[in-house]
Amino acid sequence: MTGLSDSFQRPINYLRISVTDRCNLRCIYCMPPEGIALMSHDDILSYEEIVTLVKAAVELGITRIRLTGGEPLVRAGLPGLVRMIAGIDGVTDLSLTTNGIFLAKYAKDLKDAGLMRVNVSLDTLKPERFRQITRCGDLENTLKGIEAAKEADLTPVKINMVLMAGMNDDEIIDFARKTIDDGWHVRFIEYMPVNGEDINVTRLFSVSEVRKRLESLGPLEPYKMDKGNGPAKYYRLPDAKGTVGFITPVTEHFCYRCNRLRLTADGKLRLCLLREDEIDLREPLRNGASIQELKDIITKATAAKPRGHLLAERNSHKGRPFSQVGG
Ligand code: SAM
Ligand code: SF4
Repeated sequence: MTGLSDSFQRPINYLRISVTDRCNLRCIYCMPPEGIALMSHDDILSYEEIVTLVKAAVELGITRIRLTGGEPLVRAGLPGLVRMIAGIDGVTDLSLTTNGIFLAKYAKDLKDAGLMRVNVSLDTLKPERFRQITRCGDLENTLKGIEAAKEADLTPVKINMVLMAGMNDDEIIDFARKTIDDGWHVRFIEYMPVNGEDINVTRLFSVSEVRKRLESLGPLEPYKMDKGNGPAKYYRLPDAKGTVGFITPVTEHFCYRCNRLRLTADGKLRLCLLREDEIDLREPLRNGASIQELKDIITKATAAKPRGHLLAERNSHKGRPFSQVGG
């Protein structure tokens, strides 16, 4: 096998980079109301450092890069980072995950800098509920962000909806209708319990239940999405221009085909979202490691990528918050 792979022969070609641990929202499933202790400026990788690590990763066979956070658009000058990464030979897919609040402001600059597409997190279409889930956000801003991303051709714009039983499961049909009426690409994501929450008593709302609810809108026809090759399975409802996607980290884990690594804002290579194994890249980088030395560290770390996460075994997860690891 050419390129990067782990000890289970999974090809690894996708790197998610958390560019900041800061966020302008406090989503109930991601952060405590008071936020989290923030990393210091010195702890965070500079854009130049991120670019050096991306170059090393791309030389090893990484082709797809996603920028995430925290909220990536709260870090100053993000289009500059996009431009540098887009200029690296071998990057074939460059995307961003955002809460969309600042997207209307930056969509065009991001596109001009070389960003290809965005995923926007949106869990409700009700303004009051949006404020409740995000603890402070204004739905209108995210909706404007989605429109701006479409206008800037950051497509396909995918909408990520985290399903929470008793909180937003009554909006499943409304989101699905958006795929018919407005051509949205909506992905239903199972809530992942965090901070040691008991997996058996969480807000988990399974994707299989979503499928049952969607039956009232007609049969789901499997659909092959051109861009992106992640964990989602895509379908189309009758007469829909858009798609529905299902992501099942809890009820039907996809670890066996996991193709990703993560880079935290403080420069740790994270081997799995839901396991704490991390390898420090920041110190070697700051101590002058060559690209070849960084490649050696990444290769060795990747070989140790764990087979799967604990939720798959119905154990709870306790560790760094997703806002630090990139979700
Ligand atoms: N701030 C950006 C955003 O919200 O899109 C990017 C970072 S956020 C940590 C990345 C993704 O993780 C979001 O789509 C969010 O919905 C998801 N996420 C965070 N906590 C989650 C949880 N407990 N279960 C499922 N998804 C979660
Ligand atoms: Fe911020 Fe994204 Fe976490 Fe919400 S999910 S608190 S927007 S990092």
